[in-house]
Amino acid sequence: MKKQIAILGSTGSIGTQALEVVAAHPDLFEVYCLTANNQADLLIRQALQFRPNTVVIANEAHYEKVRDALQDHDIKVFAGASALCEVVEMPGVDIVLTAMVGYAGLAPTLRAIAAHKTIALANKETLVVAGDLVCRKVQEYKTAILPVDSEHSAIFQCLAGEAGNPIEKILLTASGGPFRTKSLEEMAKVTRRDALKHPNWSMGAKITIDSASMMNKGFEAIEARWLFGVPMSRIEILVHPQSIVHSMVQFRDGSVKAQLGAPDMRLPIQYAFTYPDRVETDFPRADFAALGQLTFERPDVQRFRNLQLAFDAAARGGNAPCILNAANEVAVSAFLHDRIGFLAMSDLIADTMAGAAFVEHPGYEDYVASDAEARQLASSLLTKYL
Ligand code: NDP
Ligand code: MG
Repeated sequence: MKKQIAILGSTGSIGTQALEVVAAHPDLFEVYCLTANNQADLLIRQALQFRPNTVVIANEAHYEKVRDALQDHDIKVFAGASALCEVVEMPGVDIVLTAMVGYAGLAPTLRAIAAHKTIALANKETLVVAGDLVCRKVQEYKTAILPVDSEHSAIFQCLAGEAGNPIEKILLTASGGPFRTKSLEEMAKVTRRDALKHPNWSMGAKITIDSASMMNKGFEAIEARWLFGVPMSRIEILVHPQSIVHSMVQFRDGSVKAQLGAPDMRLPIQYAFTYPDRVETDFPRADFAALGQLTFERPDVQRFRNLQLAFDAAARGGNAPCILNAANEVAVSAFLHDRIGFLAMSDLIADTMAGAAFVEHPGYEDYVASDAEARQLASSLLTKYL
């Protein structure tokens, strides 16, 4: 039986790599559903190649174009954010890969969980915003979240065969991004173009900026906390510029397990699809002799304030990480439009976190309201930094 996969965000960096994995194993996987937001032409090409049952174009402005292109091909076409929530429930779907970016991933992920689908989770913002709620729903509906984020896939692989052995510490590795060795004075002047040059990974624009600011690592710590049930105090960030050790787990006897490999997202994507099996690939292999050395250093939270802001939000709990995420989405978008400087992003996020209403035990509606409030507040505070 081939696994039927729904790819939310098939036109993005993770989505297109997931399609490479599917194309390499036509005996194992079939695409049931593809979704995109704006890249209608690419979505049409993907649909003609992979022949899914259904496609969704989230931005309704492109609906007619996609519908007309696919009408003779027996592929259903829907549009709008609500359609994203509906397709994940389709009985034919086995696995939902959440590869869209940002808060928009939360609602369809919750719907997929409630429909008992296995989630291959790339969209880490879902766990940052509402990790508590998402984990409760996973238990309630007895389904599974398989991590796609490379660090979390590494931790997940380290934990194989360790049921009952408590984690002493998670060592979450970080490349350090393009500004790892820059001074604060230099970071004050970096441009969008500088920040978009990631040393080891080619990714979508938003996560690339999050990596440069290290907000990505703060998000990943929160993601790890929910995925593996480990308190933030047991999650240590370790800067590892080569991105070969994808993360490590230290157990109570002091033993440390790590998962290593060349930096290639197709590997964790494929592992989430084939878990618990491993199937062969022609992906590049790590050449340790050529690498010569692997290095590690502590992160600098003075220069990378977003990392501290993320840990602060997690310590506060409640809706604080939801506010953090919304403020960050506004900040990153403003930075990508050359509206604020690189370091001002942290100021904007801190100001938004200080100003938005705190809710200690949020439910779904509280998260929706907090996200909207924090976005509005961050957008109004933005004028201070223009
Ligand atoms: P991209 O920006 O490359 O792709 C995002 C995808 O989501 C595109 O298909 C886009 O559609 C779609 N999309 C964007 N906004 C919406 C929306 N509002 N509603 C529906 N669909 C939307 O992002 P990445 O692939 O880099 O990242 C995806 C997720 O995976 C993020 O959460 C990221 O943090 C996570 N991740 C990514 C990694 C990577 O290597 N790229 C590594 C680990 C995690 P369109 O292009 O058609 O507009
Ligand atoms: Mg990662």
